[in-house]
This record gives sequence, C-alpha cells and structure tokens, in this order.
Amino acid sequence: MYKHIIIKLGTSVLTNNSRTLYQPHIVELVRQCALLYEQGTEIVICTSGAIAAGKERLGFPDLPNTVANKQMFAAVGQNQLMALWGRFFAMYGIEVGQLLLTRADLASRPRFLNAQNALQALLAQRIIPIINENDAVATDEIKVGDNDNLSALAAILAESDMLLLLTDQPGLFTADPRIDPSATLIPEVETIDETLRKLAGGSVSGLGVGGMATKLQAADVARRAGIDVIIAAGRAPDVILRAAAGESVGTRFVPVERPLIKRKQWIFAGKKTAGSVVIDAGAVRALVDNGRSLLPAGIVEVNGRFQRGDTISIHNSDGDELARGITRYNSEDLNQILGLHSAKFSEQLGYDYGSVAIHRNDMILI
Ligand code: GLU
Repeated sequence: MYKHIIIKLGTSVLTNNSRTLYQPHIVELVRQCALLYEQGTEIVICTSGAIAAGKERLGFPDLPNTVANKQMFAAVGQNQLMALWGRFFAMYGIEVGQLLLTRADLASRPRFLNAQNALQALLAQRIIPIINENDAVATDEIKVGDNDNLSALAAILAESDMLLLLTDQPGLFTADPRIDPSATLIPEVETIDETLRKLAGGSVSGLGVGGMATKLQAADVARRAGIDVIIAAGRAPDVILRAAAGESVGTRFVPVERPLIKRKQWIFAGKKTAGSVVIDAGAVRALVDNGRSLLPAGIVEVNGRFQRGDTISIHNSDGDELARGITRYNSEDLNQILGLHSAKFSEQLGYDYGSVAIHRNDMILI
C-alpha cells in the first residue's frame, strides 16, 4: 500500500531498553525492510543509537555529561552503528549509504535541495539511506535535537508517503499506561490539538532524547506535508510489514487533506524561528481570514534579532503563534517601519525591499 517509507528507530528499540545495541532486534528489523525492499518499496532509515553505541564501544567510561563528551561518543558510535546496518543489510545483498544531517543542512533552500539531491541519488541506485543527526559536530543552535523531528524533516526530504516511528510503546494512549491501568491505545488521530499535546507531554522513554511529545511534533510536521504517520512498537511482530500493508498497528495520524506545497513544507519544517513579531487585530484578519501578506503597518512589536530571509513566527496580541514565514526585512528595519505605510519605508530606512514584511507565498498559517 505504501511505496516510500521512512522508518525511524529510537534508541530504546535498537537497545531493547538495555545499555547496549541489541543485535537480534536489529537483524529482525532489517529482515522486514529487506522483504519490503524486494517488493519494490523505497526505504529510508532514520537511526538513533550513535551515542549509546559509542558508550558501549568504549566500555561505559564514567565521564561528565558534557557536550564534548557526547560528541565524542557519537563520533565513535556512529561508525559502530553504520557497521551494523551495513553488515545486516549486506546479508540481503542491499547497500546502504550514510547521511548525517543537521538543521542547518535543511534551513536554507539551496542546502535543503542539495541534501535532497543526495538522498534521491541514493534511492535512484536502490541504496538504502541511513540518516542520523551529525551529533559529533553539530552544536545545539544548528541541531534538530531529536530524531523524531529529524525523521519528519527527512520524510519531507525523501518525499515519503509514510513515516513509521518505532519506539518501545505500542502507540499513543489515552493516559500514561504505566500509571493509569485504564489507559487505552488511540488507533487513529485526526487532529493534533492541545489536549493531545498535554497527553503526550509527560512520557519519555529511557535512553533516547525523544518521548511522545517530540513524536507528536514530528507527526504534526509530516501530516501537514501529506505524509501518513504511524507510531508503533518496534518489538511488535512484523510491525514494519504490517504497517506498510496498511494494517492497523499502533497509532496512525491521518495526513491533512490539502498538504502544504513543497516550499511551504520546508518553511514549516526546516527552520528554527529566529525571532517573532506581534501583529494587530486588523493584520490578524488580513492573514487568517483573507489570506493576505503581512505588511509592516500591521506589526506592533518585533522580538529577537533576525536577518532578512530568516524564518520568524507571527503572534497575535495574546501571544498565540498564528503563522510562520520568511521575513523580507531584518529586525532592526522592522522596528523602524512597524506601523508605517510602505510609502514611508525608504524615507525611514534609506531604501526599501517592497511593501510586504512577509509575503503570503513565504508564509504558513499554524
Ligand atoms: N542522534 C542521537 C543518536 O544517534 C539520537 C537522538 C534521539 O534519540 O532522538 O544517538
């Protein structure tokens, strides 16, 4: 049923919730991927476990939990991880290729397209791309930070039709099943709202950095791009095969009916916002009800320092984020021209970049 699947494997799945990589499990997941691959399904893997593998390889040295030590573990462990994936897929005669990404690789349009070219070139040669964050060198500012969100960005990059998030939980529950015995699995989610976010907020699984909260963020990004998202237990028998066949496993997030166009998917997914603006009620109506661009005249407050071309978020006066988009003016300029009509811009700044602060085509409503 699905032809282009990206499978995200959390550290808890790869280690079977232990301290070490659990190879029988990985072999089993590779077996399922190989079967699908032979049937013509395009597969991309987003793997966690580099840091865990590094610790294992070095015999769990007792070191302070610094960024540099984590980078060091990732540098050692990424190799170990790739060696395993390479060896297990080779049993089925399948080649793999490593792609290490950071948010910075996805944040500018040319870099995004460049990463996409690499991914597509691998897929064109029937090589399975194995993606992870470039933990060894990426600093927090340029990191996605967790592989749930990374896998959603990779799903957009790969133009997948399904994102399968495999974890140690069977899916999303009505309450935390470890605390509340009456909790039941939610088989299908149609909209991701505040109630659901609160529900997911508390659960974090063992070694990885993600929990249900980051899975929900990832699901939100992917489903807006028109991608089906399934959260399921990596341990469940034949979980990859069953999900790919369209069977009901875990929790499925229904994609939106009218997905964002590609450029807008990228605005939503690729970038961290560099700052924000608060807009007045008239501008809220223009944006939300009438589908207009944001003019400096409607801006009442500028927060943060950002450059022309950065993605910023747009808030109403209650602080709710309404939209996100690429600004045509930097924060200093906007501070000088907010509230003004476009005829005054060049008088104020000595130049202007047009009447619009954020053009409709560079904006998505949230
Ligand atoms: N990139 C991290 C690693 O490979 C994992 C991040 C995550 O667990 O979400 O160790």
